Amino acid sequence: MTATPGISFQAGPQQGKVNLMGLSRVQMEQYFLDMGEKKFRAHQVLKWIHHGGVTRIEDMSNLGRSLRDKLLGVAEVRPPEIASQQDSSDGTRKWAVRVDGGGLVETVLIPAGNRATLCVSSQVGCSLDCSFCSTGKQGFARDLSAAEIIGQLWLAIKSYDAFQSGNGRIVTNVVMMGMGEPLLNFDNVVAAMDLMLEDLAYGLSKRRVTLSTSGVVPALNRLTEVSEVSLAVSLHAPNDELRNQLVPINRKYPIAMLLESCRNYMAAQTDKNRVVTIEYTLIAGVNDHVEQARELAELLRDLPCKINLIPFNTFAQSDYRRPSGNAVSRFWQVLVDAGYIVTVRTTRGDDIDAACGQLVGQVVDRTGRSGRYRAANDIDAQIITVG
Ligand code: SAH
Ligand code: SF4
Repeated sequence: MTATPGISFQAGPQQGKVNLMGLSRVQMEQYFLDMGEKKFRAHQVLKWIHHGGVTRIEDMSNLGRSLRDKLLGVAEVRPPEIASQQDSSDGTRKWAVRVDGGGLVETVLIPAGNRATLCVSSQVGCSLDCSFCSTGKQGFARDLSAAEIIGQLWLAIKSYDAFQSGNGRIVTNVVMMGMGEPLLNFDNVVAAMDLMLEDLAYGLSKRRVTLSTSGVVPALNRLTEVSEVSLAVSLHAPNDELRNQLVPINRKYPIAMLLESCRNYMAAQTDKNRVVTIEYTLIAGVNDHVEQARELAELLRDLPCKINLIPFNTFAQSDYRRPSGNAVSRFWQVLVDAGYIVTVRTTRGDDIDAACGQLVGQVVDRTGRSGRYRAANDIDAQIITVG
């Protein structure tokens, strides 16, 4: 493992300036139209920021001197700041990202073969308090802005010096599985995901951008109207009684309502072959019994889905335990026999995971603002099939 200290690409916020980094294509076009400029100026700026990695408006040479001067007075391009960066011996890279006001969030890049998946945070902390999640334990501080969300992707590419490097993509997939509940920060998450898909920005296919939710049903219904990204749902239990304990938002939006909303999301997709990913964190003695696997198989029968089993990752404030490899295999087998495609999430970045608590502990001590951070392997999106 290697660690590098903080890197800052830009000074702190400038009073009253619009941060162009977080504007979607439509918002950027409107911004320039409102300034009395042509739409194509918006496209030029998008390319400078997201294709070229340029943050200095002075350097956007094709804008013309007078437009640059005008923009310098009212706008800025400001990514969040890297508080620290760690490299695992297996290629996983993890950042603690400092956002406006001093809060910290985690971003993780997990390379695997010819893919590299970036796990992005959407909030500082989380208000939903799922019983097995350390982000939930630290409470909720605030929503990230769209600039702070897309800025994590920008920073990841920048850290490899890979803007327009011609070496292919550094990040091939994005999962909204870092800190926070993305659907509770709806507008900013949608704007950032628009930029991920936008050809003038990152140009990722909708299959390669995944939003994970614990089940905020009204917001998921809204998402159906505006986005076609891939959907992952954190289910973790085969019935309401258990899910009410593990994922408290289930008391408001129970399983039947959530699965109905998932079905509607899939039905609205133009590509009818897509499926929901059901995430199921396996906790020893709580939700890993073979009977619960059978109940889950029955529950999901009418849903076009695949299932991702995530062995629980331990953290200091939790008494839950990770199940044995045998228990995971038994659970997996029941689901496979019932005809499901089932993957098991591997643990990556073990060495930086070990250092993760220390790293964040140090940062927290210095800033005195945030709580503990979840280990890298909690949000590891690498998946394999066991058996
Ligand atoms: N709030 C969203 C996205 C962030 S959590 C959601 O809940 O879906 C991303 C995934 O990490 C979720 O599936 C969550 O269940 C899982 N997770 C959280 N804490 C974990 C832990 N200690 N061990 C294993 N998986 C965990
Ligand atoms: Fe929030 Fe997701 Fe953690 Fe639940 S699992 S507390 S929704 S981040």
